[in-house]
Amino acid sequence: GRRGPLTHVRALHASTSTATPASSKQATAQLYSSGRQPIALSSAGITFTLEDGRKVLDGMSGGAAVQCLGSTNPDVVAVMAKQAAQLPYAWHQSLGNAPGEDLAAWLTARSDGALVAAAFLNSGSEAIDTAIKIVRQYWLEEGQPQREYIIARNPSYHGNTLAGLGIGNVASRRGLYAPYIPDTFQHVTTPQLKRSGESEEAYVAQLAKELDDKITALGPQNVAAFLAEPVVGSSVGVMPPPKGYFPAMAAVCKKHNILFVMDEVMCGTGRSGTLFAYQSVCEGVQPDILTMAKGLGGGYVTISGVLVGPRVADKIIAAGQWKSSQTYQNHPINCAVALSVVNKIERLLPNVQARGKQCVAELQEAFKDEPAVYDVRGQGLFIGVEFDVPSDLSPRFATRVKNRCFDNGLLSLAVSGGVDGTQGEAIVLAPAYNAKEAEISTMVEILVKSVKECLAELKKETA
Ligand code: PLP
Repeated sequence: GRRGPLTHVRALHASTSTATPASSKQATAQLYSSGRQPIALSSAGITFTLEDGRKVLDGMSGGAAVQCLGSTNPDVVAVMAKQAAQLPYAWHQSLGNAPGEDLAAWLTARSDGALVAAAFLNSGSEAIDTAIKIVRQYWLEEGQPQREYIIARNPSYHGNTLAGLGIGNVASRRGLYAPYIPDTFQHVTTPQLKRSGESEEAYVAQLAKELDDKITALGPQNVAAFLAEPVVGSSVGVMPPPKGYFPAMAAVCKKHNILFVMDEVMCGTGRSGTLFAYQSVCEGVQPDILTMAKGLGGGYVTISGVLVGPRVADKIIAAGQWKSSQTYQNHPINCAVALSVVNKIERLLPNVQARGKQCVAELQEAFKDEPAVYDVRGQGLFIGVEFDVPSDLSPRFATRVKNRCFDNGLLSLAVSGGVDGTQGEAIVLAPAYNAKEAEISTMVEILVKSVKECLAELKKETA
């Protein structure tokens, strides 16, 4: 079939026969994580053209909330070519480079003083690993090596390196690698207000108490940091925090003197409607360490960032050496492209806010009498539609909708089939920041049509 099951089965497809015609060129051996996908030949604006001639409207910025300016942006392409011609590479430990310096200055200047230094890696996962290493060095420099625990949330996704899988908690992704995941990664509950059935105030108080109790149980002197996404991305299908959540959690961190790390890999870089997501949803709370990736390179380059505030920066600068380094750190082409991308993002923020509101309003209107749609929510151009379809009726309903959307010409993302019941069934939309009003309406129409088709089909199957 066109799609393999969406599990983490790693199939080796060499030259398999699939419904999708193989590339005209001899297929090379490639490892696919979720079955062989249709081949995309080209993209322009926010539309992909597939090998078989089909066009797919991109509701997901390339599939993973990355391509935030759409494709083939001529300015970005020109910056990339110019930097490649002028200074493609210099190892950061041998030579600095201007794009790296400029990007760090540009980003930190927009953080309201929260962030003062930055380093650039190549993926969100590496940014998470690097943030963990910075937390570690901070406490070593503080003379408190016993502070080994880092508390994140369940469920959460923070990357696919071993540390990323460990600090995150999506059972289906993590279980396989359990032998390599230490128990110094601990978890508290990811807020899902509506499902909790609690009032916002009571729920926030309960979650803050859970963190406080967890820290107390581990021994406050043993805890290094708390890590959370300002807006949850893939683990539960876009979830802005309840009101008061970040101030309450920050107060607990402060009480125990632990660092607050914010993972903005998916929700940041303009996605939530402000350059940094914490500026939209954290009610004045600022991170000690922040990670960003995805939209930062706009899909043109593979770049991520770790930004640190004064508390951490001062310690590491005073130590005289930051004990972390990679070959492609602060890569000049990556940084030059990212600088060009973020300049464009800044000008598009009003559109992100307007189109996001439009998308949520249109979806809420379309689904208002549809009981199978449990929730429609969003923050900026980051939108989640959660379903309430019993899994015995249709396991992985969201995946079914996503596949139907694709057949109907829309690229979306399914959050589907959490094995421990903590993950919902949801469709995520995260369109490019320059998406037009009519394009958003088309995305909504295709999604609504696809949901209706899947529900009608389900009714027939279960009749
Ligand atoms: N953190 C969050 C919140 C993410 O959503 C992701 C990727 O989806 C990562 C980290 C890992 O980023 P990458 O896939 O670039 O390694």
